[in-house]
Amino acid sequence: MAQKHSKPCVKANLSDIFKNSDAGKSHIGNRLQRMIKESHRVLKPPFPRQIQIETTNICNHSCIFCAYTLMRRKKSRMPSELFRRLATEAYECGAREIGLFAGAEPLASPQLVEYVTFCRDLGYEYQYISTNGALGSHSLLASLFDAGLNSIKFSINGGTRERFKLVHGRDDFDKVISNVKFVSEYRESRNLSFYLGVSCVGMPDDKESFTQLEELLGEFVDEMIYYKASNQSGQMPELPPPPYRDCHLPFNKAHFSVEGFLKACCNDYENYLAIEDLSSMSLQDAWSSERFQELRRKHIENNLDGVMCGNCIRRSKVTPKPINSALIKIAE
Ligand code: SF4
Repeated sequence: MAQKHSKPCVKANLSDIFKNSDAGKSHIGNRLQRMIKESHRVLKPPFPRQIQIETTNICNHSCIFCAYTLMRRKKSRMPSELFRRLATEAYECGAREIGLFAGAEPLASPQLVEYVTFCRDLGYEYQYISTNGALGSHSLLASLFDAGLNSIKFSINGGTRERFKLVHGRDDFDKVISNVKFVSEYRESRNLSFYLGVSCVGMPDDKESFTQLEELLGEFVDEMIYYKASNQSGQMPELPPPPYRDCHLPFNKAHFSVEGFLKACCNDYENYLAIEDLSSMSLQDAWSSERFQELRRKHIENNLDGVMCGNCIRRSKVTPKPINSALIKIAE
């Protein structure tokens, strides 16, 4: 019998995180709010505290709302040497918080425990992942926390086995629920203090999953987060756009693609927002490069036509022009 969590679970709807009221007591909501407040909307902002590295762009699931299902970019895992170089350079530039995933499944990277250990030893203060949880054995999950992972969010987008299979494309519901309970129990039994959350993306026709998950897992986790399915940075145009009109990401978060490119967004499956190739430019120079400044200028001047961001937050539906066309890598 899994051990229950001693603190009450926070329930948060983060569909429109730009509204302060939605964050409430949510740990993830408040982290996002803090980032938004601290962002400098200028052409050359200081190098950010938070980064996200695409350790792999492979996912074992194919959620119906997710643009991963359409990705044409070559699927791969980041070589260990490249990860170490990027994490080190970013740390030297001032980064202290690191997400070890971007838009795919971090547990599909066999080096994840090694990466968490490496970043802990470098001095990163906060390491986090979002996972569908299905590739995690109990021993792998335990190793991640033993290595120093500070935060895990399970992305569970169906409240029953049937709905989960329909949305995720895989019959992994029972395994994922068991993994969440295991992580909760591991944390309680070892008196550890990492964050444990569950998020659920709700499709327009799904009014039940979030409540069902809350009943099933609410007592085991710190918070349950609901997101309304949205257009995935414009890549799923049949879904509604997000409710916010401004985006802080190009100003205060650095993203790194599996190929080693600096990007403006973690949700860009084709590298339309890849800015510079970090094999030929220093990270500090890339962060302040002409190309990145030009993208920030477009955000500041509300002139996002033709850029992927226009499809994301301005309802335009054109084929976006890449920021750096040399970095578009379609699988052969
Ligand atoms: S596509 Fe652009 S506007 Fe949308 S989340 Fe990414 S960086 Fe922000």
